[in-house]
Amino acid sequence: MDSARQNPAPFPSRPRLPRRALLRGGAGFTLAAGLAGASLVSGGAAAARSRRPLAVDYPAAEWVPASSSNYTKANRPAQYPVEFVIIHVTQEYYADTLEIFQNPDKAVSAHYVVRSDDGHVAQMVREKNVAWHAGNWNYNTRSVGIEHEGWIDEPDWFTEAMYEASAALTADICRRHGIPLDRRNIIGHNEVPGADHTDPGGEWDWAHYMDLVKAQ
Ligand SMILES: [Zn+2]
Repeated sequence: MDSARQNPAPFPSRPRLPRRALLRGGAGFTLAAGLAGASLVSGGAAAARSRRPLAVDYPAAEWVPASSSNYTKANRPAQYPVEFVIIHVTQEYYADTLEIFQNPDKAVSAHYVVRSDDGHVAQMVREKNVAWHAGNWNYNTRSVGIEHEGWIDEPDWFTEAMYEASAALTADICRRHGIPLDRRNIIGHNEVPGADHTDPGGEWDWAHYMDLVKAQ
């Protein structure tokens, strides 16, 4: 993730345990309980909001709106063509990512966040609006940003469930906006000109991901 600013403020770093420890150790219960509690809270609020028509662009997504301070209202594709899908890795837990995008002081957002364990998709910014994720205004205006829960140097976070859910989402975005299913148009944050971020990183399996996108 990255803001529209040239020099975004760094995210708060929080202590964390390796994924294996979380899954196999006692801390796993704490994480699971924390995520479950968070999803109950956000799920209830999202359910109330989702009664509004057209809350999401992707029907399988849960609507968890970002703070309106963290993106630019627009009227895409009339205002800007949507030509890219930009792939990110959060470097944060899923629940913390939702909180960051909902915090009006953070100046950062993405259209979608995909959860590692089960591929659950949250939509936080409507595709007609410009989310602040690429660190490049020109690319922000012309892209849809997808964040994936995990850390770039810990490939265990990149589960098959997350790859498959994200691929289905990307294929749907591309179909609706007429974006070719290729690596010129489906790019990593690191491939945005001038990017100072390295996500999704070398552990992200692009060949597998693109196979899944094209199989949709
Ligand atoms: Zn990023």
